[in-house]
Amino acid sequence: MKANLPGREPGWLAKWQDQDIYGKLRDQRKGREKFILHDGPPYANGNIHSGHALNKILKDVIVRSQSMLGKDAPYVPGWDCHGLPIEWKIEEKYRKKKKNKDDVDPLEFRQECRNFAAEWIDVQREEFKRLGIAGDWDNPYLTMDFSAEAQIVRELQKFLMNGSLYRGSKPVMWSVVEQTALAEAEVEYHDHKSHMIDVSFPIVKTALEGLDDVQVVIWTTTPWTIPGNRAIAYGEEIDYALVEVTEVTEESRVSAGQKFLMAEALTGEVCGRAGITGHNIPARFKGKDFAGTICHHPFKGQGYDFDVPMLPGDHVTTEAGTGFVHTAPGHGQEDYEVGLAHNLEVPFTVADNGTYYENVPLFAGVHVYKAHEQVCEALEKAGSLVARDVLVHSYPHSWRSKAPLIFRNTPQWFISMDATGLRETALNEIEKVNWFPATGQNRITAMVEGRPDWVISRQRAWGVPITVFVHKQTGELLKDDAVNERVATAVEQGGADAWFSADIQALLGDQYVADDYEQVVDILDVWFDSGSTHAFVVEARDDLSSPADLYLEGTDQHRGWFQSSLLESCGTRGVAPYKNVVTHGFTLDEKGLKMSKSAGNGYDPLKVVNQYGADILRLWVTSVDYMNDHRIGDEIVKAQVEAYRKIRNTLRFMIGNLDGFDESEILPIEEMPELEQWVLHRLSELDELNRDCISKFNYNRIYQALYNFCTVDLSAFYFDIRKDALYCDAKNSIRRRAARTVLDQIFLTLTKWIAPIMTFTAEEIWQSRFPSEDDSVHMQEYQTIPANWRNDALAEKWTKVRALRRVVTGALELDRREKRIGSSLQGAVDVYVQDASYIDVLEGIDLAEISITSAANITEAAAPEGAFTIEDVADVAVVSKPAEGRRCERCWQVLPEVGSVEGHDDLCHRCADAVEAHEAGNAA
Ligand SMILES: [Zn+2]
Repeated sequence: MKANLPGREPGWLAKWQDQDIYGKLRDQRKGREKFILHDGPPYANGNIHSGHALNKILKDVIVRSQSMLGKDAPYVPGWDCHGLPIEWKIEEKYRKKKKNKDDVDPLEFRQECRNFAAEWIDVQREEFKRLGIAGDWDNPYLTMDFSAEAQIVRELQKFLMNGSLYRGSKPVMWSVVEQTALAEAEVEYHDHKSHMIDVSFPIVKTALEGLDDVQVVIWTTTPWTIPGNRAIAYGEEIDYALVEVTEVTEESRVSAGQKFLMAEALTGEVCGRAGITGHNIPARFKGKDFAGTICHHPFKGQGYDFDVPMLPGDHVTTEAGTGFVHTAPGHGQEDYEVGLAHNLEVPFTVADNGTYYENVPLFAGVHVYKAHEQVCEALEKAGSLVARDVLVHSYPHSWRSKAPLIFRNTPQWFISMDATGLRETALNEIEKVNWFPATGQNRITAMVEGRPDWVISRQRAWGVPITVFVHKQTGELLKDDAVNERVATAVEQGGADAWFSADIQALLGDQYVADDYEQVVDILDVWFDSGSTHAFVVEARDDLSSPADLYLEGTDQHRGWFQSSLLESCGTRGVAPYKNVVTHGFTLDEKGLKMSKSAGNGYDPLKVVNQYGADILRLWVTSVDYMNDHRIGDEIVKAQVEAYRKIRNTLRFMIGNLDGFDESEILPIEEMPELEQWVLHRLSELDELNRDCISKFNYNRIYQALYNFCTVDLSAFYFDIRKDALYCDAKNSIRRRAARTVLDQIFLTLTKWIAPIMTFTAEEIWQSRFPSEDDSVHMQEYQTIPANWRNDALAEKWTKVRALRRVVTGALELDRREKRIGSSLQGAVDVYVQDASYIDVLEGIDLAEISITSAANITEAAAPEGAFTIEDVADVAVVSKPAEGRRCERCWQVLPEVGSVEGHDDLCHRCADAVEAHEAGNAA
C-alpha cells in the first residue's frame, strides 16, 4: 500500500512522545469538564492478543473522541499483577530446575513473581503503544505498587470495621498438587478410574415399625469421603424397599437374613453389585417416612460416635446408586447445603496437601488418593462394606497440573452480602448506572441477586495479604483503627511483604500481646485487588476524578471486574464506582469460532500492524458491531485495507486542491452555489450524528457514516462534479472560491472526525497542511458547525436531484462501456420526466455541470423508445448522445464555440478567459 503505514507510524509515535503531546493536552485542557475512562487492568503474563487489541483501541477511540469534544480526558492504563497464573509460572521454573518451592524464602519467591509481572508489563506496554493508544504510559497503575497494596489493605480494613468480613468455611474444588482452591473456570473434566463402594449404615432410632436390625445402603465413588460422612439424604417422594436377603453368591460380602433399605427402582442394580441372588420385600416406605430416623456411622466406637441423621434432599434421584445419598458436608456443594439447612457440623478432615488431618480417627496422615484400600478394609471389618468395584467416569481435574481434584472443607474469609445490606445497596446502584448494551443491566442484576457471600481468601503467596488478627481464645477479629493504620503504613513502605516480615508486636502496639493473636496469612482474591482500583487510581490520582464516567470491558466482566468493583465500592462508599458501563463481545476467528491456543486459530494483532499498519486494525475495531461477538481474519482485514485506501484518497484529494488556499478566497454561505450549501448541510448532519454516536459509544455507526460520506457523497459526487471548476475555472471564479471554501471546511471537519479512529493517518494529513513542531491534530477540538449550515429543505431537494442524476450517470456509463463515448464530457443528455417537480428542483442548477456532460436538456414529456431508465427512479428516462462541437483542450468539454474563440483556437470561452486572467496576473 502506498500509504506505507508500517514504515511511517513509528515515526509519528516517536514525534508524539518527543513533543509530549499527551502532557501538552493535559495542560491545555486543565479546568475543563473531565471524562474519565477507567482502564480495567489486563493480566501481566503474555503477549497481547486480538481481544486485548480491540479492548484497548476501543478505549482509545472513546477517550480521543471525548477529548475532541473539548473535555479533559486523561487515560491511565493499568495492570493486574498478583495471582495464581504468575505464581504458577515461577513454580514451573522451579520444577524444571528440580527446586522445591517450599525451600525458597517466601520473600524471595514473591520478588520473583514481581519481576515476572514487571517484565510482561514492559512488553505489553510497548505493544499497546504501537497500536496508537495514547495515555500516561510512564505512570500507569499496577496492583503490585506499594501504594496500591496499601490502599487495598485499607479497603479490606473498611470491611473489617463495618462488620462485613467474617471467617467461615466452605467446601471448595481443591487441587492437592497446586495446593489451592480452583475456580470453576480452572477445572477440566476427564475420564478417571474411581473406586465405587456400597456401604451400609445401621439404623439405631426410628419411629417406623419393622426396622430393627435394618441397614441403610449408600453408594459412593469417593471412598475417602466416608470419614467425613455426617448424614444420609433421601428423596421425600421416592419409593423405598426393605430388602431381606434370602440367597447370595459365593463372592458376596453380605449374607442371607440381612436386611437393607434402598430405592425400590434400584433394587436390581444394588443386588447385582452386592451378589444378592434372592430376596423378599417385606415392607415398603415413602422417603418422607424416614424423617427423624437416625443411623450410626460404620466406624462407631472408633472415634465416629456421632448420630448420622436421615435428612430430606431435593438432589436425591433414582438414576444411579441406591436412592440414599451419602452426605459429607465438607466434600460437596449439595452436601454442604444440606448440612447448612440442618445445622450439621462441617468437619475439617483433609489438609492442603491431600492428607487426613491428625485428628481424623483411623486415617490420620493418609493421602486421600491412596485411602480407598484402608477405608474399604475398615468398612469390611465393621461389616458395612456391601459391595466394591471400579468405575471409569468423567471427573474434575486441574487445567494446569491435570491432577484430579477433591472437594474439601476449608476455612475461608468472606464478605457478607447481607450482614450490612451490601446486596441491597449494589442492586440499587445498578439501576442508577447506564449499561451499554442495555441487557447488561439484567445480567449483572441477576448475578448480584443470586450470588453467595464473596469468598476473598486464597491460600497462596503472591498477593495482598488479608491483614487481620484473630484472637486465639475468643476467635474475635481485632478491630482497632490504630493497629489498622500501622499495618497500612507498613505496607505502604514495604509492600505486602511487610505483613509477613514485620514485628507483629510493633504492629499491635502496647495494648495487645502478640502471643494472644493469630496473624492471618491467606492472601486476597485478585478480584478484590482489581475491585479496589477505583480507590487507589480514580480517587487517588490528581489527574482523575471519581466516580469514573466509564468502565469498558468484555461481557464476561459482569461476573468479574464490574461486579467486584461494584461490591467493593458499594461496601465501602455506598455508591457505584462508575456512571456508564460498556461491554464488548468476544473476538472470533473468520469462521465465527472461538479463538484458543489449543485450536491454533488465534490472530496476532501485531501481525496486522506490521503488515498493514495500526490504522487498519483501528479501522477494523470501529467497523465491527463490537457490543456483540465479532470476527477477524485475513479477508476481513483486507476489506479494511480497501476501505482505508478510499478514505485516504478522499483526504488526499482535498490536500491537493487546497494548495495555496487563503482566507481572501472564503465565500459566505449565502453566495455559494446550492451544491456547496448542500455539502455544508451534510457536514452539519454528520456532526450531529457523530456527537450522538459518541454519547452512546456507537462507533460502528460513525464508521459507516464517514465511509459513505467519503466514498459516495464526496468522491463519487461532489468531488467528481467540482473537479472541473477546481482545475479549469479562473482563480477568482465564484464557483471555484465556493468549492475551496467548502473543501477547507470538509478538511477541518473530516480530519478531526477520523482522528480518534485513524490516529496516524489523520496526523499525517493534518501536518501535511498545517506542519508544526509542537501541535497535533490530537490537540484539536471538533469543528463548531454554524447553525445556518443546516438546511433540510435544500437536502430534500437535492435528494431528488441526485435521484435524477443517478439515471443520467447510468445512461452515460452504458455508453462508455459500449465505447460510444470516451468520457462523460463527450456526451450530451436529454432527460425526459413525467413529473414536473423534477424540473422545479433543477431551477438554479446546471444540469450539465452536475451530470459532468457537455450539454444537458430536461423536458416534461414521454420518453422516446429505448430511453435509459432505472428501476427505483421510475419517472425519469434519459437519452444520451455525443455532444456537438469540438473538445476544449484545457477543460475537455465538447462545445460548439471551440474553434471560434478569438486568439484561442482550441479553447472554450471560459478557458480562454482563465488563461488570459492568469497571464495578466503574471504580468502584473
Ligand atoms: Zn474549456
